[in-house]
Amino acid sequence: MQKVIVIGAGVAGIATSIRLAVKGYSVDVYEANSYPGGKLSSLTLGAYRFDAGPSLFTLPELVTELFELCREDPNDYFKYSKRDHICNYFWDDGFKYSMPSDPSSISKSIADSFQVEESVVKSYLDSSKRKYNLTNSIFIEKSLHKLSTYFSFDTAKAFFQSFRLDLFTTLHSKNAQSFKNDKLVQLFDRYATYNGSSPYKTSGIMSMIPHLEMDLGTYFPDGGMESISQSLYELAKRQGVNFHFDTLVSEITVDNKVAKGVQVDNLIMEADVVVSNMDIFSTYNRLLPRSRKPTKILNQERSSSALIFYWGIARHHPELDLHNIIFSNNYEEEFSSIFDDKDIYDDPTVYINISSKANASDAPVGCENWFVMINTPGDFGQDWDTLINNARKQIIKKIDRALNVDMANLIVEESILDPRLIESKTHSHQGSLYGTSSNSRYSAFYRHPNFSKLISNLYFVGGSVHPGGGIPLCLNSAKIVSNLI
Ligand SMILES: Cc1cc2nc3c(=O)[nH]c(=O)nc-3n(C[C@H](O)[C@H](O)[C@H](O)COP(=O)(O)OP(=O)(O)OC[C@H]3O[C@@H](n4cnc5c(N)ncnc54)[C@H](O)[C@@H]3O)c2cc1C
Repeated sequence: MQKVIVIGAGVAGIATSIRLAVKGYSVDVYEANSYPGGKLSSLTLGAYRFDAGPSLFTLPELVTELFELCREDPNDYFKYSKRDHICNYFWDDGFKYSMPSDPSSISKSIADSFQVEESVVKSYLDSSKRKYNLTNSIFIEKSLHKLSTYFSFDTAKAFFQSFRLDLFTTLHSKNAQSFKNDKLVQLFDRYATYNGSSPYKTSGIMSMIPHLEMDLGTYFPDGGMESISQSLYELAKRQGVNFHFDTLVSEITVDNKVAKGVQVDNLIMEADVVVSNMDIFSTYNRLLPRSRKPTKILNQERSSSALIFYWGIARHHPELDLHNIIFSNNYEEEFSSIFDDKDIYDDPTVYINISSKANASDAPVGCENWFVMINTPGDFGQDWDTLINNARKQIIKKIDRALNVDMANLIVEESILDPRLIESKTHSHQGSLYGTSSNSRYSAFYRHPNFSKLISNLYFVGGSVHPGGGIPLCLNSAKIVSNLI
């Protein structure tokens, strides 16, 4: 039986281990932390449970297909439900909008609330869907670094329709041309943050992202986001995958340009195939010290990072839902601050995720568990303690204004995650959430391939390589890697 070693038990590493075990490989996963899931994990503060990282769940079929692949019924192990609202939006001037999730009423709801023509919204969402359908099978489901991808019907179709992809404009310009309402432009600009980019820099092709939410829907797993990684971890174990926790891989052993295994605690573990789920920057710099590095790819700008406050809140807020956003008054300055000045903006957009709205046991009765996040630059050695102190005050002021509350007196539990901690907990370079940023038109082509061009039997999976960060893309990268192997 051929032996595979996977470095890292992030969601992509676990999914890869399942796919390879099903193909008949013997799979060992080495994980530096004491738990599976990487960024997709959880924490508990007193009587409050929090998902530590991802909070938005789309394309659940990418999770359930792993159970089906193992001939198991997903309903026995992983349950989820569709949300009936996508997000509640708030602006400082008191304007509010609660976006429904029913695709048949969404255009009318947006048109009525933002005073724009329904046909304009419909046409935007149709074009979002068209872009998604044209590019999904090329950019997301296949390796962009194999010739076969370019000689397919799907690629030819996308090529001939490339003028419809808005590749040569920015997301913000696309939105500003489409909608004559600044708040609606800001709402649609927000989708750039789904891969940690700036709407003023990322390509207009990102206007396909709303299709995911507004047409395909948003979901929440029973038991919280952590049940995605937990149920996949249990599935992998049932397939015979061996997990080794608290085990840091210190090097990938290479002989004559062939990966031969990994080094763990001064021991060499041999394998026929090595798959790294470690961030690609850290894989080259820590695990392959003697290998030639693809410097251009590794030095690309990284996606944004985040500052998160996990707050146990001693009150119920009926005006809030699972996902809530309080927008900045100046989005352009906010993104310039993040990507150009490497600073936290003093009027940040505040995202509040409350999983107890969907999973009541996450907070005591009458209380809520708030995951309060702002986008930040990565870690470049800033004075984070001062930045975090200031940001905390600004965030509380902004929430007080938007919700007419006195936050300081409602917080009964607190923990904080910042870019430094994201890096130290997952080896994500600069604490980036989604690997490289998509702040360039050609970013999809600049992501590292899922295999090594120099070392045979070495593969890469997860948010820092093709096709990119976020749970759905990570699950797709596992599919690509297992097909390549
Ligand atoms: C705060 C936050 C919010 C986010 N929000 C969303 C969201 O709402 N929706 C969404 O889809 N995505 C979101 N994301 C992104 C998403 O979490 C990631 O893209 C995805 O979880 C990355 O998975 P991964 O498998 O690539 O890597 P990771 O989760 O980073 O896992 C890598 C694992 O490898 C281990 N490892 C690394 N090096 C070694 C080594 N040398 N030896 C042993 N083990 C090693 C690490 O300990 C880690 O467990 C968010 C991320 C964060 C941090």
